[in-house]
Amino acid sequence: MLCPCGSSLPFNACCQLYITQQKHPSTPEQLMRSRFSAYATKNGQYVFDTYAASQRLKQSVTEIQTWADECIWLALKIHESDETTVEFSAYYVVDQTLCELREKSNFTIEQGQWRYIDGDITVHNEIVTVKRNEVCPCNNYPTAWSTKRNKKFKHCCAKQIGI
Ligand SMILES: [Zn+2]
Ligand SMILES: [Zn+2]
Repeated sequence: MLCPCGSSLPFNACCQLYITQQKHPSTPEQLMRSRFSAYATKNGQYVFDTYAASQRLKQSVTEIQTWADECIWLALKIHESDETTVEFSAYYVVDQTLCELREKSNFTIEQGQWRYIDGDITVHNEIVTVKRNEVCPCNNYPTAWSTKRNKKFKHCCAKQIGI
């Protein structure tokens, strides 16, 4: 499958390398993308592990995992990134509602590795209610794994992805 981060690369040549620790992200954007792909592939442990140490104290793998599992992660859009920040929008469906979360995230290096600190959320919108028999929202917010097929939501992203 293609990488959930939207890079157009195969997952195993993109974020999976970071998630399985064969490679380490060399920029905040790579880390951010890999964290989104970890959410999309339901890998709460990686999301936890890539928080800065001070933030890990406030987080629980179980809570992250529950959130990852509850959401259908559709698409990631990177607006801007520089040496220590990334501004992105993540599109996801939870409780049959399509949401956009736009955030400017802050990153730091700890023991040679990029880590996520926190972010300022600038947009957190409920875009539309998604019904099981309506066209899947990935037609407008293309995921890496299904685009413009006009399938019903229940036959498309509602089934989630299989790795
Ligand atoms: Zn990727
Ligand atoms: Zn879909």
